[in-house]
Formats: sequence, C-alpha cells, structure tokens
Amino acid sequence: MTGRVALVTGGTRGIGAAIAAALHDNGYQVAVTYVSDERAALAFSLQTGIPALQLDGGDAAACKAGIQRLTEKLGPIEVLVNNAGITRDAMLHRMQPDHWAAVIQANLTACFNLCREVVPGMREREFGRIINIGSINGQTGQLGQTAYAAAKAGLHGFTMALAREGASKGITANLVAPGYIDTDMVRTVNPEVLQRIIAQIPVGRLGSPEEVARTVLFLASDESGFITGSTLTVNGGHHMA
Ligand code: NDP
Repeated sequence: MTGRVALVTGGTRGIGAAIAAALHDNGYQVAVTYVSDERAALAFSLQTGIPALQLDGGDAAACKAGIQRLTEKLGPIEVLVNNAGITRDAMLHRMQPDHWAAVIQANLTACFNLCREVVPGMREREFGRIINIGSINGQTGQLGQTAYAAAKAGLHGFTMALAREGASKGITANLVAPGYIDTDMVRTVNPEVLQRIIAQIPVGRLGSPEEVARTVLFLASDESGFITGSTLTVNGGHHMA
C-alpha cells in the first residue's frame, strides 16, 4: 500500500470516478474535483469515502486556493490526474467563440493551472506523477470537434514538454488517450452515430471506465519511473499509430 496523495480532476463521474476508486482501492489517499453536479459529487463521496472538492480547473486563483486546502488536509499532491474534460461540439463554421474558449479552458488550461500548483513541490521532493487524459479524437480529429481535438492534441505536446522538464527531478508526465468509453459524455452521442462508431472498433464494443483506470494506476506507480512523455491508448484498436 503506497499511501501517496493523489488528486483526480473531474473524479465524481465517468472515467475520473473509476480512476479515483482504483487509486483508493490500491492504498492512495485520493481527493477528487468536480465543477457543478453537486448531487453526483455527494453520491460519489458517500459511496467511496473519497472527498470531493468543487473546483473549476479553468480558474487559476481557485486552483491555487484548492491545492493549498488539499495539501493542508492530505499532504502534498504526489499524483495528479488531469481527467476533467468537456465537449461542446459544432462544425467550425457554426462554433461560437465562447464554446471554443470553454473547451480549451476545461481541457487544456485547467491542466496548466493545476500542474503549475503541484509541480514546484514535486520538484522539491523529487517525485511526481502527472497523468493527463487525452482522447482518440486529439489523435485523429473528429467532425464538430475542432476545439476538443485542439485541446486534446495540445495536452499531448504539453505532456511531452513537461516530461522533459521533470525527468531529472523524478517527475513523470504521460498521456492516456481513451477511445470511446461508456460514460455520460458518450451517451450524448446520437445512438445511430454511436452504432456506426462501434462498428469501426476492432474489439467491437465501447471501453469501460475501469479499463482506462487500470492504465492510470499503472502509470501512477512508483515502479513506472522510466515511462515518461508517452501516450498510452485505450481504444479497442480503434486507432493504431
Ligand atoms: P464525464 O462527462 O462523464 O465526466 C466529466 C467530469 O469532469 C465530471 O466529474 C465533471 O464535473 C468534471 N468537470 C468538467 N469540467 C470541469 C471543470 N472545469 N473543472 C473540474 N471538473 C470538471 O466525462 P468522461 O468520464 O466521459 O471523460 C473524462 C475524460 O476523458 C475527459 O477529459 C474526456 O475528454 C476524456 N475522454 C472521454 C472519452 C469517452 O468516450 N467518454 C473518450 C476520450 C477521452 P460535474 O459532474 O460537476 O459536471
């Protein structure tokens, strides 16, 4: 049992909830964040005993205050999983600037805001695990997702640059790129479109949040110190690079 402190953003639902539960079950002291769905957050905390903090990752000042509070409560964050993400799909010629900004803010700027708060301590203690959740659509592009694909591809470059910066200080940074996973996010896709997507997945089904969580757990471990700057795909063979 590790006892290390882990923070999972967007950890009250979907993939993040599965990541938080997997870390918790493996001895990490876990906290999660959410942005607006208090009912889901309360239900998650009651069920798992994992504390949930309302924290918009896109708000730099809130991230600073939130990390300070969590550090006082649990100790310094040693594992940061930047999982929170949103989609606001529209073809480029119809996409509104506020949708573009919201998607970049929640998926990419939030990662910067939170890394900026935890990395200095990780450098001092010479240990850290940063795991960013990208997407197959950041690797291949997708109709209606110029903003989302740009944010997720941005995370890819961010992760590699941070991996180089942290390497001599015991900090690894890796990206996990899920394919289509059975969560609320995918349930918003039109069922006919979703069936067409599933038909393109060699494994022939959606992935489960737990399958993504297993990958994160592997990257978070002390024994994964030689894996950095990498992208691990969890997509049923949907995209092979
Ligand atoms: P869900 O929509 O099921 O859950 C999203 C979580 O993120 C919720 O807890 C939500 O909080 C939280 N969140 C959203 N915006 C913010 C914010 N600004 N600050 C803090 N928390 C926030 O998403 P998934 O589980 O499906 O996706 C998780 C990650 O995986 C995302 O980054 C997504 O892009 C990525 N991904 C998902 C795929 C899929 O098929 N599902 C495929 C590829 C990548 P609240 O409950 O308050 O809204």
